[in-house]
Amino acid sequence: MTTINELITHLENLAPRSMQESYDNSGLLIGNKNTTISGVLVCLDCVESVVDEAIAKGCNLIVAHHPLIFKGLKRITGSGYVERTVEKCIKNDIAVYAIHTNFDNYHQGVNAEIGRRLGLTNVKVLSPKSEALYKLVVFCPENEESLLNDALFGAGAGHIGNYSHCNFSSEGMGSFQPEDGANPMVGEIGSRTILSEKRMEYVVSEHRLSASLVAMRSALSYEEVAHDIIKLSNVNQQEGSGMLGELAESMRAIDFLKHVKQVFGCGAIRFTDLEDKQVKKIAFCGGSGSFLLNHAIAAGADVFVTADFKYHEFFDADGQLIIADIGHYESEQFTSNLLVDILTKKFTTFAVRLTELNTNPINYL
Ligand SMILES: [Zn+2]
Repeated sequence: MTTINELITHLENLAPRSMQESYDNSGLLIGNKNTTISGVLVCLDCVESVVDEAIAKGCNLIVAHHPLIFKGLKRITGSGYVERTVEKCIKNDIAVYAIHTNFDNYHQGVNAEIGRRLGLTNVKVLSPKSEALYKLVVFCPENEESLLNDALFGAGAGHIGNYSHCNFSSEGMGSFQPEDGANPMVGEIGSRTILSEKRMEYVVSEHRLSASLVAMRSALSYEEVAHDIIKLSNVNQQEGSGMLGELAESMRAIDFLKHVKQVFGCGAIRFTDLEDKQVKKIAFCGGSGSFLLNHAIAAGADVFVTADFKYHEFFDADGQLIIADIGHYESEQFTSNLLVDILTKKFTTFAVRLTELNTNPINYL
């Protein structure tokens, strides 16, 4: 028996909702988080036909990349596909959860999957959010070290670059004297206790700090957990928009675009002048990535693979790189596969299904 809330907790340990962009509306959009999951249907776009598919497959939760309710909804009268889809979900007890720009900004999310599909190496974030990092120092009983580690690593503390489970521990003597009103696990009111403790240190990103503090308190038997939260001058470069990676060997631009077209099954790729260039450094961003063009140029990318470029924006390539607009749906389609993988690895009490529908609203002739 798994609740929607348990699924959300797992996904948001990886990609906290606080990592979404300010305009976004990720999270549980329809349904009650305490509902037991009968099955999950994963898609990019939660449209009416996907809800029909969920009903047919016995799935009471749809996990979508794009939020069905985005700008707010003032009435549900069946006018327009959003209202009709919401109504259909509610009538059929189908919950809808969206994991959008927080999954774009997650370093193992939407863009990491694109990099893998393109066979790129040396992949890093193109425009890091440069969020603040904290050092969390916790003083814990000697025999509770592994409990604390499990709790904090589970809450996402201890990530440095591509390494997880990072911490440092040292031994020392701690002392405390419980006063009136205290309810100590060890020691007595009014007398000082001295005992050996571990000093445990973890790097924690801003997004994971509050969850880490909750995990810390629940892991230890101490009534009051002595801890320090220290803001660091180093910043987190791991999360942010777009990515940059390299091909194993440089290739002709036209051959690279043919490779992209084949991998993503693009109906068409719109691109700027190729000038018979060789390409090796590839910037990429799933979905609407034109806002990252200057970052791609500054990073020395030969090609920028993304979607939703407007006519005038193509001029901004200005001979400095090749813009390749491969289509919004095409660029993000593998996001669904990635979500299915993540959920299947974690949960066994319900089936996780990938939609069989192509929800791309755009056709090519
Ligand atoms: Zn998108």
